[in-house]
Amino acid sequence: MQRERPQLVVSDRKGKIFNIPYLAVGMKAGSFFPLALKDLVRLPQGSELFMLPSRKPVGYDTAAKDFVVPDGYSAVAAFVSPGHTITYNSAYIEDKKVDRLPLFSYGAVAFYKGEFYVTALRVDREPRQDIRFMDISAVKKNAKSLRKQFSKNRLFRHLEACALCYGCPAAKNLFLKRYEAPLPTSPSCNSRCIGCISYQPGKGCPITQPRIKFVPTDEEISEVALYHIRNVKDPVVSFGQGCEGEPLLVAKTIERAIRLIRKETKKGIINLNTNASKPDLVRRLSDAGLDSIRVSLNSVQELYYNRYYKPRSYRFKDVISSIRVMKNKKGFVSVNYLIMPGFTDSKTEFSRLKRFISKERIDMIQLRNLNIDPIYYIRALKFSIARKELIGIKDMIVSLKSDFPHLMLGYFNPSRTRVTRTSKRNI
Ligand code: SF4
Repeated sequence: MQRERPQLVVSDRKGKIFNIPYLAVGMKAGSFFPLALKDLVRLPQGSELFMLPSRKPVGYDTAAKDFVVPDGYSAVAAFVSPGHTITYNSAYIEDKKVDRLPLFSYGAVAFYKGEFYVTALRVDREPRQDIRFMDISAVKKNAKSLRKQFSKNRLFRHLEACALCYGCPAAKNLFLKRYEAPLPTSPSCNSRCIGCISYQPGKGCPITQPRIKFVPTDEEISEVALYHIRNVKDPVVSFGQGCEGEPLLVAKTIERAIRLIRKETKKGIINLNTNASKPDLVRRLSDAGLDSIRVSLNSVQELYYNRYYKPRSYRFKDVISSIRVMKNKKGFVSVNYLIMPGFTDSKTEFSRLKRFISKERIDMIQLRNLNIDPIYYIRALKFSIARKELIGIKDMIVSLKSDFPHLMLGYFNPSRTRVTRTSKRNI
């Protein structure tokens, strides 16, 4: 390969990762795309490189002008650090019999001028989950002192395990008194997402963190929330975490907790990450003082929504009703938009998304990578697409910015300062 180009990154059987002289390639819904420098950014700090077992890498031979599957190697992918959205998946061919990949996202990697690069975009500048600013010894020290201060509070104990055993950045931020604190409450859920990180039926694939096993009391919840709100300049506290089911299933407890919090302070944002399945309960929580909701969606098309969420006892229209309830109550509505290159950037999905944003007056799209085996996902959605029907994640984001100047794009639940700044623009 004459002029230096982004090279294919592979792994040997022992997991040693290196580059070989083929052009790097990205994958979308099973189709392959030779990569150019404009598709790549330096691998962000805090990202991880994975060797993908039973998957052969795909490269591009610029001389033969064709894709190649070099023998004797395994494919490599990047799990990029929070705040970055991937635009292509790692390109590979599955062996005949393969196990499902664990619940991470798999970005395409390249090697260029001595450094690793990835097909991703930085969509949020906030260092909220940047591990360089998360001093684990400070987490341990504060967790210890809180154990004395709130010795009977089970929720603090649960979050201590989340921070120190599972490395949850949200739980660490609680003990570091910064940004957003998690308030998990619900052991059960009325969805059966195929990519649920806390519940995977049968031998599908391992969960990344266990679910909370108890419903904390309203006092325990408000104690954690008030501790955070009082110790952080522009705080956010959020129900609906990776280590729980659906918070709306324990809405009565959450309603009492919100009233306890708002009786003490008007400061900060009380947010609910949710599948938004119960509009009446969203109304009650809003009346109690809930400021914002983040609605989780892999698609704005009911067919593909159902194939991912497998909703139980609710329908897609209930999700829409919850959004309208919150908007009518002047609440802030974000979408936790689960991005998969090759599906999310399809012309149909994108035109539906634009219609959805304007019709439902969405305030923010959080461009989150969907942590799931990309090939397994596309098969589960029974989705196939021609290359020419794809517009590109990068172009999709550029178009969202120009078509919806009021719309906030990012990765994290915004603080009151950011919400106020945006809503002023919205009113
Ligand atoms: S809504 Fe959340 S908790 Fe429920 S199945 Fe889906 S990912 Fe899991």
